[in-house]
Amino acid sequence: MKKPRVLIVEDESSIAELIAVNLRHNGFDPIWAEDGDAAQREIDTLVPDLILLDWMLPGQSGLVLARQWRKEARTKAIPILMLTARGDEPDKIAGLDAGADDYITKPFSTQEMLARIRAVLRRRAPETTTERVEIGELALDAATHRVTWQGTPLKVGPTEFKLLAHLMRHAERVHSRAQLLDKVWGDHVYIEERTVDVHVKRLRESLGSASAMIETVRGAGYRLTAQATV
Ligand code: CA
Repeated sequence: MKKPRVLIVEDESSIAELIAVNLRHNGFDPIWAEDGDAAQREIDTLVPDLILLDWMLPGQSGLVLARQWRKEARTKAIPILMLTARGDEPDKIAGLDAGADDYITKPFSTQEMLARIRAVLRRRAPETTTERVEIGELALDAATHRVTWQGTPLKVGPTEFKLLAHLMRHAERVHSRAQLLDKVWGDHVYIEERTVDVHVKRLRESLGSASAMIETVRGAGYRLTAQATV
């Protein structure tokens, strides 16, 4: 199996070196970039499996970089773990809002860092399976990241894709907002349940005439069903 490639974006060489040594010893393939420009060059060469991104960097901050990478097609699916010396709640939320998957507050132990990295990679893993699911005339192909309705491709955003994949893999079952947050978004505690509603709305818009397959179950949550009349 290929070693996961981890791009470390950190200007302090002693910290970067320590992280790199630990990653290498634990079956990862680390690369170090000291600022945003260097990181961008690495990404242009080869897309990493995960980015460990320091908040405080010379030039563009980690926050600005995270936001930028989330927007670009080449980088938007790469998990980002923010490294921050700050422990303040608003900063953590800002990091997650900018598109980071999780954050680690410095100083952190190697064990904590490895656990967070593995958790983020695991959460992202279902997306990389080659599984294909079909419910009625709605089909989702995880390998090609395509969704089709009656054979016609639909444009679905990355979070909506994950949400749809989860609902289709567990069709006919009612999922509460909390369960969806846990399964689709992972174990963030900083995302409000209302976020689920926003993404369900977007997903329905993407599905067009197939949107009736996603039912709101009052007081309980959401369900994808083949029984809907569409
Ligand atoms: Ca720094």
